[in-house]
Amino acid sequence: MKPAVFRYHAPKTVDEAVAILAEVAPHDGRILAGGQSLVPTMAFRLARPPHLVDINGVDALRRLAVKDDKLCIGACVRHAAFGRPIVDGPLGRLLSAVVRHIAHYPIRTRGTFCGSVANADPASEWCAVAVALGAEMVARSVRGTRVIAANEFFAGVMTTALQEDELLTEVRLPLLPPDTRFGFNEFSRRAGDFAIAMALAIYRLDGGKIVEPRITIGGAEPHARRIVQAEQALAGRGPAADSFAAAADVAAGAVDPMEDAQNTAEYRRDVVRAVTRRALDQSAT
Ligand SMILES: Cc1cc2nc3c(=O)[nH]c(=O)nc-3n(C[C@H](O)[C@H](O)[C@H](O)COP(=O)(O)OP(=O)(O)OC[C@H]3O[C@@H](n4cnc5c(N)ncnc54)[C@H](O)[C@@H]3O)c2cc1C
Repeated sequence: MKPAVFRYHAPKTVDEAVAILAEVAPHDGRILAGGQSLVPTMAFRLARPPHLVDINGVDALRRLAVKDDKLCIGACVRHAAFGRPIVDGPLGRLLSAVVRHIAHYPIRTRGTFCGSVANADPASEWCAVAVALGAEMVARSVRGTRVIAANEFFAGVMTTALQEDELLTEVRLPLLPPDTRFGFNEFSRRAGDFAIAMALAIYRLDGGKIVEPRITIGGAEPHARRIVQAEQALAGRGPAADSFAAAADVAAGAVDPMEDAQNTAEYRRDVVRAVTRRALDQSAT
């Protein structure tokens, strides 16, 4: 099928983009970023936005820079930008380790970091990263700019705190201390598919004991979430097989997994246990 008829807008500045969005958003006008989620749904006529506001011509949104110890990722920065570490230290390595799990290479060359965050698919790797790191989302509209914390941003399956007339101009990720350890693992039936579940484990060691553990699970629930009980199970213990297995069990018990035609809740819970254990094992290598 082909998309339903729509009017195409090509702003050159952020001011112009949000001014157009203010006019067309009440009529289901949408931002077009990489198009890797929106265009397929339009082609199947699952979405029929009468207006598209294409932000790809807005140079200011291509910014990818470190400011005040934060990596600022503009709305037009593609997934592929993270294929090699974009900054020195653990954050750059973490983003490179995660990006290769997103879709297939051609999709990564068009799809954007901010588009994934705005789209809020439960199995989006970047949403899990944003939750794990406590990202800041910068939203702009004709009414002004506001910064939304990650723990207030994701509201459910493909639902966020963004208003219909707000453009997510930038996501800011804090740089990580040099001694940060991390591991990421996900399971999907075919390479490139959305994951059934994923786990991102981040912590530091102090005197050989785990401090500041963060365990984030994506894909299993309506949106990615830090699992506090699993973090508590890890804190103060050594990075060893028994503590990793215990934390993985706790994570599996703490999630409330979604069900779909292929995956029961119990199966997804088992996958959460496996990916958490693998992410933690990877963190210690
Ligand atoms: C076969 C296939 C496999 C995929 N597998 C994965 C996967 O494993 N993991 C994964 O995370 N993704 C996957 N994707 C999705 C892909 O990563 C998309 O690139 C991403 O979800 C959306 O980014 P985009 O820039 O393409 O957004 P678009 O498709 O352009 O937009 C998506 C939605 O977000 C809105 N939007 C986009 N940018 C903004 C913004 N800056 N401010 C406000 N609203 C905005 C749009 O209006 C639209 O509603 C897959 C896609 C395909 C086709």
